[in-house]
Amino acid sequence: MQLSSEVDVAIIGAGAAGLGAYCALADHGLSVIILEARDRIGGRALTRYLPEGIVFDAGCEWLHSADHNAFVQIASASHFDVADAGVHWGEQTYDINFPLSEQREFYAASEAFYARLELAAQIPDDSSAAVWLEQGNRWNPLIEAVSCYVNGSELSGVSVHDVESYFETGVNWRVRRGYGALISAYGACCNVALGTHVSAVDYSARKIQVETSRGTLRARRVIYTLSTALTVEQVVRFHPALPAKIAASMGLPLGYAEKVMLAINEPEAFPEEGHLFGATDRTATGSYDLRPLGQPCIEAFFGGSFARELEAAGELASFAIDELVALLGTTFRNKVRPCATSCWARDRYAKGSYSHALPGHSQDRESLAAPVDGRLFFAGEATSRQFFSTAHGAYESGLRAANEVADSLGLALEGATGLPLGASQGFRTASVA
Ligand SMILES: Cc1cc2nc3c(=O)[nH]c(=O)nc-3n(C[C@H](O)[C@H](O)[C@H](O)COP(=O)(O)OP(=O)(O)OC[C@H]3O[C@@H](n4cnc5c(N)ncnc54)[C@H](O)[C@@H]3O)c2cc1C
Repeated sequence: MQLSSEVDVAIIGAGAAGLGAYCALADHGLSVIILEARDRIGGRALTRYLPEGIVFDAGCEWLHSADHNAFVQIASASHFDVADAGVHWGEQTYDINFPLSEQREFYAASEAFYARLELAAQIPDDSSAAVWLEQGNRWNPLIEAVSCYVNGSELSGVSVHDVESYFETGVNWRVRRGYGALISAYGACCNVALGTHVSAVDYSARKIQVETSRGTLRARRVIYTLSTALTVEQVVRFHPALPAKIAASMGLPLGYAEKVMLAINEPEAFPEEGHLFGATDRTATGSYDLRPLGQPCIEAFFGGSFARELEAAGELASFAIDELVALLGTTFRNKVRPCATSCWARDRYAKGSYSHALPGHSQDRESLAAPVDGRLFFAGEATSRQFFSTAHGAYESGLRAANEVADSLGLALEGATGLPLGASQGFRTASVA
C-alpha cells in the first residue's frame, strides 16, 4: 500500500487499541490510517494454528469479564464461536502433590491475602502488594506464582491501588478459533500500512509530521498505542519531547508472561480442561492447562522474572516437560513434544507481556492516557484504568482516544461503537461498574 502524504488521523500500532480506534473513527468522513511496524495486525493478540489442529493463542487467550467484554459481541458479529468451558486455574487435577485439603488451605490463604489488599487500598498512601503477605505463610510462594501469571510480576513490584482498581467479573471465556484470530478478523477491514515502522512524531508545526520507514506522513491528529516498554525506549521520538509520558511509562512497566504449547500422544488419557501447578512450594513454577477446549495438548504458562529467565535461556519447553514428568511419571516424557513457544520478552514490537503499576504509580495510567496539545492522543492497554493488561481494555482505550480525537475536531462520534466495519447495529460497548 502506498502511504498517502496527508491524513486526518494517523494511528500508530494495529493492536486491539489501534484497531478499536480505527473502527470507531471510520465512516465519519475522516481519512484514517494505521501505521504498523509488523507484517501483521493484532500486536500482542496472535493465534497460531499448529499441527493436529491445535489452536495456540500466544498472546491474549481469555475473554476476561466476558459478561462485560466488547469482544464477545464482536465475536458474535464476526461468527466466531465463544466457549464457556469454565476456568480451572486454581485446581490440581488428580490431586497430584496438592491434595484437596491443601488446595483448600491455599484458597483460604489467598483469599485472606486479597482481603488484606482490599483494606490496604483504602489507605491513601499506596504500597507494594508484597507487604501484605502474611510472614512465614506456607502458601506465599504459590500466591507469588499466581501474581507472576496475572501481573507478569512478583508482588514486590505491584501497586495495591492499581490491583484494586482493576475491574473483573470472574467470568472468563475463550474463542475456539483463537482470540488473536478474532482480533485480526475484526481489523481486517481497517486501512493499515503494514511493515511501516514509525520513528518520530514532530508536532511543532500545525500539521503533525509522522516519520516512518516508508516516508513522512502529515496528519491533523495522531493516536499513539505502543507498549510502555517501547515508550520508555523512545522507539518513537516526539518533538517537542514528552518526558511526562516516559515517566508515566516507567511507572507502568511491562511484566513477563510466556507460554509453551505441548502436543500429547494418547490425549484421551488426560482429562479435558484439567489443570496442574508444577509445584506448590516455590514461585518458579509453571501453570499447566490440560487439554484446553478438548485439544490434544497441554499449555504451559510462566510469569514474572522466572518466565523471563526461562525464555532468555531457551528453556521454556524443557522446564515444562521436566516439571510435568516429575508430576506424571517418566513415561510422560515419551508422550509429549513441544510444538510452539512465545517470546514476548524479546519481541521487538512489544518487549514484554502486559503492564502493571509499580507501588506509588497507579495514577500513571491517567497521565499516560492524557492528550497532549489537543492533537496527540494515547491509547493501549496500559492507559486503561480498570481493564489494563487486557485486550478488551486496549480496545476500549482505543474507543476513548477516538472520541477524544472527534471532540478535538468538533465531531460527534454518536453511534460509533467500534463494531466490525459493515456489521449490523445494536452493539453496545462494555459498561463499567
Ligand atoms: C502471554 C500473554 C497472555 C495474555 N493473555 C491475555 C488474556 O488471556 N486476555 C486478555 O484480555 N489479554 C491478555 N494479554 C494482554 C493483551 O494481549 C494485551 O493487553 C493487548 O493485546 C494489548 O493491545 P494494545 O493495542 O494495547 O498493544 P499491542 O497489541 O502491543 O499493539 C501495539 C502495536 O504497535 C506496533 N508497533 C510497535 N512499535 C511500532 C512502531 N515503531 N511503529 C509502528 N508500529 C509499532 C506493534 O507491532 C503492535 O502491533 C496477554 C498478553 C500476553 C503477552
